[in-house]
Amino acid sequence: SNVFFRPIEKINAVIESYPKGIAGFRRYLEIIDTEPEISDKPDAVDVNALRGDIAFQNVTFGYDQQRPVLKGISLNVKAGETVAFVGPSGAGKTTICSLLPRFYDVTGGAITVDGIDIRDLKLTSLRKQIGIVQQDVFLFSGTIRENIAYGKLDAQLPEIWEAARRAHLEELIQNLPEGMETVIGERGVKLSGGQKQRLAIARMFLKNPPILILDEATSALDTETEAAIQQSLSELSVGRTTLVIAHRLTTIKNADRIIVVNEDGIAEQGRHDELVNAGGIYSRLHQVQFNA
Ligand code: ATP
Repeated sequence: SNVFFRPIEKINAVIESYPKGIAGFRRYLEIIDTEPEISDKPDAVDVNALRGDIAFQNVTFGYDQQRPVLKGISLNVKAGETVAFVGPSGAGKTTICSLLPRFYDVTGGAITVDGIDIRDLKLTSLRKQIGIVQQDVFLFSGTIRENIAYGKLDAQLPEIWEAARRAHLEELIQNLPEGMETVIGERGVKLSGGQKQRLAIARMFLKNPPILILDEATSALDTETEAAIQQSLSELSVGRTTLVIAHRLTTIKNADRIIVVNEDGIAEQGRHDELVNAGGIYSRLHQVQFNA
């Protein structure tokens, strides 16, 4: 269940945009050696602006050979569409999503983006086009500005403020003693859970990827904060292909499509009302999980 909660963002930042010579970012290199071997083909291509049409074509995968986790997943997600993955713990929702940025490679079948097999793309190129928001936001000791700019290391101040505004962080930052230059983390101001989430969202507005993966928190923030963050996430997902590992009923209800995953693969898909009326796995899951 926790493949996703490793320091993926750290790895990403290094692979995508590590600016040689900026000493401050050198330390992230030290964290990346736990990754399995995923590398570029000699003729891998750079693609700069993907639309974000995603296809899983009979994808099989297992973390070890004895035990397949995905036994033939086929799925098309249109550019701009929001799909919510739901299903019992261990069904493979996180695994499906972690194959897209190639944290692991499929063992059979293929995943394409805009019709291109992701193994034919440069890893940097692919990962630049995918934004990930996880429940554990990775912050480092540094200023708010630096922490937001982590989404795009060469960002200029006006676009950093714009990202902060779109993540509804502007007022908070303006009220801090040093504004954007306020140090956060161990040596500085502590941010609340909701504020950390907003910072992660600001990073993504700045990074502006066509594809988003949202790994929804299982542990709740207070209801009001939760609703506000959900609103920001839905603003972030506008115009982007969004895969949500979903735990919240409102997210699920608002998704363009719900994908129900169980041990056998994709069991059902459709909109909330359709699936409730169908009286299958989703309707039972929905009753148990949300007392509906
Ligand atoms: P949850 O809702 O609990 O997050 P999930 O549907 O996202 O579950 P996955 O995390 O994708 O499920 O896990 C699918 C299966 O793969 C599980 O049996 C899990 O134990 C296994 N698994 C996940 N990550 C790893 C890993 N890094 N190494 C080995 N097995 C793993």
